[in-house]
Amino acid sequence: MKKIEHIGIAVEDMAKAEKIFSTIFGKNAYKWEEVISESVKTTFFKIGESKIELVSATNTESPIAKFLEKNREGMHHIAFAVEDIEKEMERLKKEGIRLLNDNPKTGADNKLICFLHPKDTAGVLIELCQGKA
Ligand code: ZN
Repeated sequence: MKKIEHIGIAVEDMAKAEKIFSTIFGKNAYKWEEVISESVKTTFFKIGESKIELVSATNTESPIAKFLEKNREGMHHIAFAVEDIEKEMERLKKEGIRLLNDNPKTGADNKLICFLHPKDTAGVLIELCQGKA
């Protein structure tokens, strides 16, 4: 793994959360994207080299809606940049870590992504992501 690519924060109300984080960071978001396949809306902030992704649900079937049924809004996942996502998925599978999807999916920010099962990662939802060429 290369570095932390971004940190994902699950939010109930995107407009409200965007305002809060704009105030905290002292700058505006730079990217807004809906990922229809995941039923989420995302808003990205950049703080130096680091990115913060706010994620909200666009319908009740969204994984974020399900997360917010069980948890308060807040820290949701940590995403790590990888060189070769398929290779990394293969390696982790061999180590006995369950993947939430068998094949890389297209996520926000033009990335190929895969989530690891939090039961196998000390409760931390980890996203692997690889920039698309
Ligand atoms: Zn993410």
